[in-house]
Amino acid sequence: MDLARTDFYLDGQWVAAGAGETVAVRNPATEEVVAAVPAGTAADVDQAVAAARAAFPGWADTTPAERAARLDRLHAALSARADEIARTVALELGTPLKVATRVQAGLPLTVLHSYVELAARPPAEETVGNSLVVREPVGVVGAITPWNYPLHQVIAKLAPALAAGCTVVLKPSELTPLTAYLLFDAIHEAGFPPGVVNLVTGTGPVVGEAIAAHPDVDMVSFTGSTATGRRISHLAADRIARVALELGGKSANVVLDDADLGTAVKVGVGNAFLNSGQTCTAWTRLLVHRDRYDEALDLAAKAAAGYRLGDPFDPATRLGPLVSAAQRERVLGHVARGLADGGRLVCGGPEAALPERGWFVAPTVIADVDPDSALAQEEVFGPVLAVIGFDDEDEAVAIANNSRYGLAGAVWSADEQRALRVARRMRTGAVDVNGAPFNPLAPFGGYKQSGLGRELGRHGLDEFLQVKAIQR
Ligand code: NAD
Repeated sequence: MDLARTDFYLDGQWVAAGAGETVAVRNPATEEVVAAVPAGTAADVDQAVAAARAAFPGWADTTPAERAARLDRLHAALSARADEIARTVALELGTPLKVATRVQAGLPLTVLHSYVELAARPPAEETVGNSLVVREPVGVVGAITPWNYPLHQVIAKLAPALAAGCTVVLKPSELTPLTAYLLFDAIHEAGFPPGVVNLVTGTGPVVGEAIAAHPDVDMVSFTGSTATGRRISHLAADRIARVALELGGKSANVVLDDADLGTAVKVGVGNAFLNSGQTCTAWTRLLVHRDRYDEALDLAAKAAAGYRLGDPFDPATRLGPLVSAAQRERVLGHVARGLADGGRLVCGGPEAALPERGWFVAPTVIADVDPDSALAQEEVFGPVLAVIGFDDEDEAVAIANNSRYGLAGAVWSADEQRALRVARRMRTGAVDVNGAPFNPLAPFGGYKQSGLGRELGRHGLDEFLQVKAIQR
């Protein structure tokens, strides 16, 4: 199977990248190179931005119904590729195929569908005194995305940007570009006007920086690490370009003394280990009332033992590898530091048995983690759960809020009013009470260093609009 791709998608067509450098794509379960894609240059970004700029007035002028119809065609073209997308994500990222099918392919289709509907119903114009207040698309959007949800992170930007009337230049992560190519096959099939959506693959420091610094990019929408988000903000600030940032997290799962402990811990471990813990919203700190602490540790160890490591294509596998050797080293470094700082290994850890090949880390639970220590403060991005005890609600809230991040979180209690009270006190962009389901229409984004702006639903669409007041 030759998965190599040799082109960019520019101005409505596949354009050969020429004989420049390429980026190798590896299967993290076997460590083998499975494909290569072109490493773009600043000149490629110039071409893509010029196409997006030229397409902008025409696309901005289309009716909401036309934009909705085009997104609907994209939804159909992408749905037809759902199995291929799941298999590709399993191959280049290592997500177990079952999870890849449900989350990596399924979720973006749900989100895209929501924007078919939202595109058709633009926000109403308002009258404020003698002013007519109208909303207009921001312009050319540069989208830079990470590898952990390679289609979802792209759709969460592209769908609302297109629905709003913006045009887009995408740079997907160099670790998982193959999924983006499938998306652009679907985009081509959906027949967007030339230049409305463009793809340049390559590395962050070259293609990513060229997009973030480009004078003709009106807005940079970025998902990734806080360090890169800071760099992109600096680059965009030079020309006062708008930025939207979805960054890291260190979310707390607060289990109050009256909670259904069995469910809270089982669901909490599942959340922390989803996608091998490579999820920005992962509840990586389990906060448990001290009266139920030991019981919770037993439950966590039992739940973790159910996460069988292995080949992402084997239906029995519940935990795949990490995306890269570097990511694995980083995660093991966090585990070692956590243990050196006084954490107690409950299960997993650096000595646990692993498949012979692949960048695997065993599902790991560490108890007695100091809330100020690195393991409780730094984003690990691996299957590592830090457990911390508390004596009362105030202490639980203080520990939950003792973070420079504020992306997500959870509260469990038999008393929903009590859980809601704690949820309101948590300084974070989202909180789930008693395992409530994910809502793809709810605003998604971070407080503090977890980011700026919101994705998904109506709030996600508003990010790509600007407001004009016309006095009469
Ligand atoms: P990353 O910041 O290294 O890379 C993200 C993207 O930015 C990639 O496409 C990369 O090529 C590009 N990039 C890297 N350096 C750049 C630069 N100097 N200028 C412009 N672009 C550059 O992050 P990652 O390792 O791919 O992803 C993991 C991180 O992303 C984690 O910290 C995670 O929490 C975060 N994340 C956040 C969310 C969210 O929604 N909040 C979602 C997923 C991942």
